[in-house]
Amino acid sequence: MATIRFQALRETLNRKPVEIHEDERRSETFGRNVFNTSVMRQFLTKEAYQSVVDANISGKKIDRTIADHISTGMKEWAIAKGATHYTHWFQPLTGSTAEKHDAFFETIGDGLAIEKFGGGALVQQEPDASSFPNGGIRNTFEARGYTAWDPTSPAFIYGTTLCIPSVFVSYKGDALDYKTPLLRALQSVDHAATAVAKYFDKNVTKVQATLGWEQEYFLIDSALAASRPDIQLAGRTLLGHSPAKGQQLDDHYFGSIPSRVLSYMRDLEKECMLLGVPVKTRHNEVAPNQFELAPIFEEANLAVDHNSLLMDVMNRVAERHNFVVLFHEKPFAGINGSGKHNNWSLSTDTGTNLLSPGSTPMKNLQFLTFFINTIKAVHDNEELLRATIASASNDHRLGANEAPPAIISTFIGSQLTEVLDELEKVTDGKLSPQEKTDIKLNVVGKIPEILLDNTDRNRTSSFAFTGNKFEFRAVGSTANCAQPMTVLNAIVAKQLIDFKKEVDELIKNDKMKKDDAIFNVLREYIKKSRDIRFEGDGYGEAWEKEAEKRGLSNNKTTPQALKAKISDKTISLFEELAVMNRVEIEARHEIELEEYAMHIQIESRILGDIARNHVIPTAIRYQNILIKNVRGLKDIYGDNFKTYSKEQLQIIEDISLHIEKINSGITDMIEARKVANKLEDAEKRAFAYCDDVKPYFDTIRYHCDKLELLIDDEIWPLTKYRELLFTR
Ligand code: ADP
Ligand code: MG
Repeated sequence: MATIRFQALRETLNRKPVEIHEDERRSETFGRNVFNTSVMRQFLTKEAYQSVVDANISGKKIDRTIADHISTGMKEWAIAKGATHYTHWFQPLTGSTAEKHDAFFETIGDGLAIEKFGGGALVQQEPDASSFPNGGIRNTFEARGYTAWDPTSPAFIYGTTLCIPSVFVSYKGDALDYKTPLLRALQSVDHAATAVAKYFDKNVTKVQATLGWEQEYFLIDSALAASRPDIQLAGRTLLGHSPAKGQQLDDHYFGSIPSRVLSYMRDLEKECMLLGVPVKTRHNEVAPNQFELAPIFEEANLAVDHNSLLMDVMNRVAERHNFVVLFHEKPFAGINGSGKHNNWSLSTDTGTNLLSPGSTPMKNLQFLTFFINTIKAVHDNEELLRATIASASNDHRLGANEAPPAIISTFIGSQLTEVLDELEKVTDGKLSPQEKTDIKLNVVGKIPEILLDNTDRNRTSSFAFTGNKFEFRAVGSTANCAQPMTVLNAIVAKQLIDFKKEVDELIKNDKMKKDDAIFNVLREYIKKSRDIRFEGDGYGEAWEKEAEKRGLSNNKTTPQALKAKISDKTISLFEELAVMNRVEIEARHEIELEEYAMHIQIESRILGDIARNHVIPTAIRYQNILIKNVRGLKDIYGDNFKTYSKEQLQIIEDISLHIEKINSGITDMIEARKVANKLEDAEKRAFAYCDDVKPYFDTIRYHCDKLELLIDDEIWPLTKYRELLFTR
């Protein structure tokens, strides 16, 4: 009965690290399979090259005839590198990437064939789109959706396919993917931030959002993973007793990387180099078999693409190493889960990081402007930020007694707190020359140029300032970064637009000097956004109480959190910035609610199946062994048998009790599912799954885990936590 488990263990123990050869320097292989600037110079006409560059810098549309030139150049390059197919590579709302390969190959009659790839095929493709989630945007009358080339993210070759990063929109142009709203948000933050940056430097003409994500993940041997139906189907364990040793000793974090894992990482990094994904850091994470990988930050759209691509590549490379990657936010109860910290900043085309303090008071005022505006944006939109990282799997992290809480707050460190406290005292109205000198010398001037090494770290904050960037730490490890990046950049854009308006009004109406106006507006922002700043322990209970007093949201479940995504405030924000229209917003909301309900439904079925098909039969089997034993004792000792079988009888009873609880729990859970499934309204159904179905998970699991401890290890069918986490 437990044969799969033992077979899997044997297989795992016999594995050897895959040998990895690296003959070339990484700097040489970097970007080899990317249609980047230097390749474009080589394969494109001057005119075609310039039009891609212009599209990149100013978003200028690429002319159709030019597109023909570009596609020809791209095809020549791709074929020379062994590619046979091309695909529009896009990110539908399923959460993974999508591709439909077409061959370059085409027949031209007379039994002849050529390789062809026209501008039309580069610019647009029409995947059979009806099976992607669309939240009712595409009704049957206009079932078509199409993908369109995003020239701001370079094409690349993966395997033998030329991949063209694309957006995915409905026939009417409504967004059906993650990238479209992201590009719109990035454009609005560019405009808004450029206008504000011009207060400090007239030469700025473009501001880019930058993103450096950190991807956490678990690696489990593929044989062990296959021995567990829950890992196979849900990507996490739905039951399993805690091992005697977990992560208490902190002996995994930053420890030496296990050799099989190191081979995997090197292989993965090789692929990343070819694809131009600038991965830099790798290490063991806190939990056993948990690891992390981080790249050098990039322009946000490219970084988002690279993270989506990486997750796909991670899965594929894992196959070669007999590993399964668990991206789930909480694959194992009782030990740390995984996140995907999003490090974010804004940077100008003059080479300035706007969230980095400078060497002069003016540079520091620029820093403070962007710093305080970001905090204000987070303050005003904390509930929407929380909503943007909501998912059934991230609910296990946020607010679940670990990792960032479901409360959004910013941490800025004691030094900057002091600076903001001082700025709060700035005079209302025009500043006297004395006060200005004073501020410049003693407040703004005191911000050290390199804060990076001076900032305190607070690992319990959901949105921490870390010296020259903010780190949105609450993002889940399975998330597509596009979502949090869309919202973050949009709220900052909106905030900067408002800021500029207020400053300009003070300059015009109150005849203030620019500096005075900026100080005045910032002072009010500091006061108004005080409540979002928290320097203490974000995991503590005290903070939950304090946050409630401050009126901050604490939405612990996805259905609850998602409400903020369709509030009037959100809709007017997105519509004002042209990031998403009402139809797109409501469609997405519907998709997310449906996805949530399906997620819990699937987990609930898996748990029911495992408990009934694996756990209960095993328990009965063991109980029968005990019964036989008791009978034997009775044969030998007659009426005196109870003296010698007291413990066995107790275990027999305990087993019956656990079986009873498990079985009735499953029956009730199925009833709750039936009720939930009958609800037409997606939100009501999501709440029903959350409030009425999910609570059974814990009780069913509790009794299964108790049985795991009682039953003979030899017949227990499910690979145990100890084995999943410590076998390599
Ligand atoms: P840690 O936060 O683990 O101490 P680092 O501060 O070195 O590590 O950086 C973590 C991540 O932040 C990296 O992926 C890095 O590329 C990214 N990062 C650094 N600077 C910026 C920036 N200006 N904008 C966006 N991301 C950045
Ligand atoms: Mg970090």
